[in-house]
Amino acid sequence: MASVRVIVVGAGMAGLTAAGRIAGAGHEVTVVDKGRYAGGRLATRDLAEGRRADHGAQFFTTRSDAFQEQVGRWVAEGTAHVWCRGFTSEDGHPRYAVRGGMRQLGARLADGLDVHTSTRVATIGPSGAGWTVSWPDGPHSTAGHIVADMVVLTAPVPQSADLLSDHVDVPDITYTPVLALTVGLGTQPAIPTPGGLQLDDDPTWTWVADNRAKGVSPSPAVTLHTRSDVAGARWDDDVEVVTADLLGAAAPWLGDAEVVDVALHRWRYATPAACHPEPCWVSPDGRIVLAGDAFGSPRVEGAFLSGLAAAAHVIGQG
Ligand SMILES: Cc1cc2nc3c(=O)[nH]c(=O)nc-3n(C[C@H](O)[C@H](O)[C@H](O)COP(=O)(O)OP(=O)(O)OC[C@H]3O[C@@H](n4cnc5c(N)ncnc54)[C@H](O)[C@@H]3O)c2cc1C
Repeated sequence: MASVRVIVVGAGMAGLTAAGRIAGAGHEVTVVDKGRYAGGRLATRDLAEGRRADHGAQFFTTRSDAFQEQVGRWVAEGTAHVWCRGFTSEDGHPRYAVRGGMRQLGARLADGLDVHTSTRVATIGPSGAGWTVSWPDGPHSTAGHIVADMVVLTAPVPQSADLLSDHVDVPDITYTPVLALTVGLGTQPAIPTPGGLQLDDDPTWTWVADNRAKGVSPSPAVTLHTRSDVAGARWDDDVEVVTADLLGAAAPWLGDAEVVDVALHRWRYATPAACHPEPCWVSPDGRIVLAGDAFGSPRVEGAFLSGLAAAAHVIGQG
């Protein structure tokens, strides 16, 4: 089998899963990501005095054998653990969390791969039989480019579409936004065991979590996620004003605890409104592959399965 040169855009679950499998099959793979850390929406915020809070994905579940096997390996090595089997009541299905925060899973997946963070791809264009992927100077990176036989793009699809707009039409996928508030506290919050609540009827929030109970933070820290209509309505408002308003709306779960730190993160592309039916999408020339949680099925597991599908396509071309 001939070795192919592959560049993966995006070091989230899909991109790192794809890169790991492609590298394992003997191909040359480079991963680039604009973020400071690998992980993408597997994201953890550092708060004051060593506190940490997951502010993207909160936990994951397993439905497929492939993901169950992978998660079993992470549990066996101590990376992941069963947080609980339900929040307000137990339903028997494990909810998995990551010790020290979801970002640690990104680091685990990136281990041993050629991953360049703080590298924002600006252009992708045809080059001979392949494609050239380029990025400009950034605050923590120098300009560069790679000529690759194949490109796997795992950014949210509108961002991949922008990069490819002069050359390839890609599926039209829309996403819903979320505002994530992370709050470091002086004492424990008022969130019952096991430390997570899915909120169906709240006017502001869909989710609240105690990061200490989850094994993420050594000291009290809370994550709250807004409803998508609230995120849409407040998207362009001044960050300090929104943060203060949301802190007020969080009061029922913060209890009397002193607020020692607070941060707001705006997820424009939090979750796909609907997924493309296939687990990855391939361009007519076979050399551009789109993958991520918008392909096949959503969430962390969907991103993993999409990464596997993208890798299978690349390896099949080699
Ligand atoms: C608030 C929130 C809560 C969630 N809760 C859960 C949950 O509890 N359970 C669950 O299973 N899922 C949850 N999810 C969804 C889950 O996080 C995602 O489905 C999954 O992490 C997506 O992985 P991905 O690899 O497809 O995309 P991403 O993780 O988004 O990776 C794409 C990467 O592409 C990079 N990128 C984009 N543009 C460029 C560029 N031009 N150059 C270089 N890099 C670029 C980004 O920086 C990013 O790292 C949640 C998501 C959010 C936002």
